[in-house]
Amino acid sequence: MNRLTLPESLKITKNYSNGSFITTDKRFDNISPVDGEKLSEVCEADRALVDATVKAAKEALNGPWGKTTVEERADYLFKVANIIERRYDEFIAAEVLDTGRPVHQAKALDVYRGMHNLRTFAEIFKHEYTTTECYESNLPDGSRLLNITRRNPLGVVVSISPWNLPLLSATWKAAPILMAGNTVICKPSEESPSSATLLAECFDEAGVPPGVFNVLHGFGKDSAGAFLTENPAIDAITFTGESGTGSTIMRTAAAGVKPVSFELGGKNAAIVFEDADFDAAVDGIIRSSFTNSGQVCLCSERVFVQRSIFDKFVQAITEKTEQLKVGWPEDDQVYMGPLVSKGHREKVLSYMKLAVEEGATVHTGGIVPEFGDGRDRGAYVRPTIWTGLSDDARCMQEEIFGPVTHLSPFDTEEEVIARANNTNYGLAGVIWTTNLSRAHRVAPQINAGIVWVNHWFARDLRTPFGGNKLSGVGREGGRHSMEFYSNLSNISIRI
Ligand code: NAD
Repeated sequence: MNRLTLPESLKITKNYSNGSFITTDKRFDNISPVDGEKLSEVCEADRALVDATVKAAKEALNGPWGKTTVEERADYLFKVANIIERRYDEFIAAEVLDTGRPVHQAKALDVYRGMHNLRTFAEIFKHEYTTTECYESNLPDGSRLLNITRRNPLGVVVSISPWNLPLLSATWKAAPILMAGNTVICKPSEESPSSATLLAECFDEAGVPPGVFNVLHGFGKDSAGAFLTENPAIDAITFTGESGTGSTIMRTAAAGVKPVSFELGGKNAAIVFEDADFDAAVDGIIRSSFTNSGQVCLCSERVFVQRSIFDKFVQAITEKTEQLKVGWPEDDQVYMGPLVSKGHREKVLSYMKLAVEEGATVHTGGIVPEFGDGRDRGAYVRPTIWTGLSDDARCMQEEIFGPVTHLSPFDTEEEVIARANNTNYGLAGVIWTTNLSRAHRVAPQINAGIVWVNHWFARDLRTPFGGNKLSGVGREGGRHSMEFYSNLSNISIRI
């Protein structure tokens, strides 16, 4: 098995501002969660660089970018996607080394979706981004008004991303932002900076004008994240991350009444009815609980299983989970790599301890595996299954964001809907049933932005995506992204 290496250009991971790659003296280490090795030094953007980037992004709106047609912008994104395709292996190395996800996942999900986001939003906007409405009004004096509603860019959009799906998140935002004619400043997570700078190399090679696409590295508080959101010249913020961070950014944005779009945390419920395809449900719950080491906002941390199949289900899922291979991301047989960092592992381990204190039975997991090699310096935990917690336990109410899931029995449809909705979050839900009427009856009653029936995670990018309650503000995807990233103006013409 060959270990991956980070592309040479990323050994000093640079900012990309106004068409130039910029180093800074203040740097932080990018540490691999696989074996604790230092991967690179990342150049942190200070306030002066942040302000200069916002200024350049503003000026770019009045440059050639401001005159591009939607078709020309689509051509740029297709070009960037083709360059990603050519440099696929470098993107895989960047994503895998930063986060420890298995190579097969980075290939099929992260880098694939990175490309696909660019191509899909280019296509959608090409066909849909146009004058939206037209009304004729008749006035009492016999004259007529023609009202035409036009779309205009918002301006400079700040896009702040988390570490769990770095390239996917960055492109999911940047593509519609740019297609709507805006300029963008991406602030990737400090935990996963590499693929954003690689993406900047692709935009640079594609000849996208300076100032249109920018990447600034750093942390949140007292660093690039806060400097960006505090800058009065920005025009909108799109943020993906923890609900608490969203709340802080919302307070900052309030000062300038900036529009915000937030994709935040979740404490998602999955429901398995007794009529479900049993084996498919077991495999589906394993996937929705442990994909990416449970570090997907859409993962199921609360699973409700109908009482008649509960014991059999717990036994089957425990046996299969014990067989999941945890280890080197480059190993094709590995299901789960490490968590993103040792810091995050501390948080997950603290919940594993708390769950036991709160009365959980641990069926499998709850431990740090020992390998006897470099992985012991990494951030691994075994996938974990609990039963026995009450619905109001902290481990049942707080987002843990690791490979942990809790199974509870339930009796009736009415009961399980109420229990699934007993959370301050409202991001996603999963239902396993072969009863079509039940699927239609239950799905709309789950208070969440997305509900999957008999599958999980697959998305059509034209559909709305977002969360309710603590899980977010607004919807993106397809036309919904178009709505958020453009300002409408009505032009009223007297005829
Ligand atoms: P986080 O909130 O800690 O950080 C996210 C980003 O915000 C990082 O780039 C960070 O540097 C920046 N940031 C932190 N404080 C800031 C501040 N005060 N001002 C400006 N920027 C700031 O989140 P995380 O730990 O990176 O990601 C995990 C979280 O993301 C989980 O809660 C998960 O559910 C959520 N998430 C949600 C979705 C969704 O679509 N709803 C998708 C992925 C992840």
